[in-house]
Amino acid sequence: MDAMDMEACASVEKELDRVVTKLEHLHKNASAEIGDIASLMSELVNVLGMAEQMVVTTLNTGTQMNAPGTGSPDDPMGENVNMQVETEPAAPQRLTDRQMDIIRDSIVKCNERVQKLSSEHRDLHGSVSKIGKAIDRNFSADFTSTMRVDALQDEDNLMLLNKAIAKHYCRQGMDDVARTLIKECKMSEEHAQDVFDSEREFAEIYNIWMQIQKRDLSEALKWAERHSGQLREGHSIVEFQLHRMRLFQLVSNGMVSQDEAIAYARTYVKNFPAKEIGYLMLSLIYVPVGLENTRYKHFLSQEMWTELSFIFLREACELLGISKNSALSVVVNAGCTALPALLNIKQVMQSRKVLGMWNGCDELPIEIDLPPEFRFHSIFACPILRQQTTEDNPPKKLTCGHVISNDALHKLSNGHILKCPYCPVEQNAEEAVRIYF
Ligand SMILES: [Zn+2]
Repeated sequence: MDAMDMEACASVEKELDRVVTKLEHLHKNASAEIGDIASLMSELVNVLGMAEQMVVTTLNTGTQMNAPGTGSPDDPMGENVNMQVETEPAAPQRLTDRQMDIIRDSIVKCNERVQKLSSEHRDLHGSVSKIGKAIDRNFSADFTSTMRVDALQDEDNLMLLNKAIAKHYCRQGMDDVARTLIKECKMSEEHAQDVFDSEREFAEIYNIWMQIQKRDLSEALKWAERHSGQLREGHSIVEFQLHRMRLFQLVSNGMVSQDEAIAYARTYVKNFPAKEIGYLMLSLIYVPVGLENTRYKHFLSQEMWTELSFIFLREACELLGISKNSALSVVVNAGCTALPALLNIKQVMQSRKVLGMWNGCDELPIEIDLPPEFRFHSIFACPILRQQTTEDNPPKKLTCGHVISNDALHKLSNGHILKCPYCPVEQNAEEAVRIYF
């Protein structure tokens, strides 16, 4: 990353920090404000409840006072009185001044607080939109020259993209999001089934990975037991590490887990490497006091849990032969790595009017140096033409053992005769064989 990029990052980061500080402040204040509003409201409800109670009581008392008159058959006016009670509404009951004050006061205070919250929220919104502007200002937003616009005009390609997105969601246990996407893009039954089938195994692993981060080892231990044989065959240490973590977890629970910890150690520790057994068993003496102030302390730190979760993720994926990253995230990350290089040559391409070259070729016009995690198989670059080999121009092994690309082979051969450019052995060009990486 050059100095200019660093500067751009720094200025966006400054805006970001501002928003985070504001958000933290707002979060703290808002909880207090909302608490205040809630207690004002409940006070209001109380007052109104009491007032209602009073109205009901007064009404009942009123009816009862009239009742003897209405019920008496001797009273000639009885019917009239009865009519009066039924038709004449009860005299409006006034709240006491004190009640009115409380109600008015609560409403004013609530209004004030809600308005304050809303204006703070508006303010935050303003700051968030400033980040967007800072990004626009500091980074190039025009990637059109690096795009293959035709790529997604093809319906099949578009469906492949939707499928990759759906798979990505599926992997992370967001099946409902994947299902909605599948429905909305009208993906065929067959493709949709493939999305779920192919990611099912990973979804389980992902789920366990999340649980380990939450310090829950139950599912991870079950998984390790199920795959114990294969894990040992591959000399994996993840099973040992899971059991070790569980033992320390039990020890740190204190006396309540004493029996469980001892039973656990008896069952599992015997399978561990001999040199570890003494060290692990010794931890049991700390059951009464916990591991907090002992040399075992660091085993239960958050870093160790995170590390364990990632070791599990890596080894489980390796064992099942699946990638720990989704195809979509690999493509996006590799694409982001390539973007700066592509933007850099944009000018060159435009000035030489060779933009047309970009379209319709399977390869990028420049080499992008990707980090090792993005390299999935070996590639072969022809030493003669200095080009990466492709399906159309595959690598060929000559009878002398040297390898060059098919195009180079044709360029160098004279009829059927080919003289190897490295060891000048003369041979029949027809005898070169295609090799695969
Ligand atoms: Zn040779």
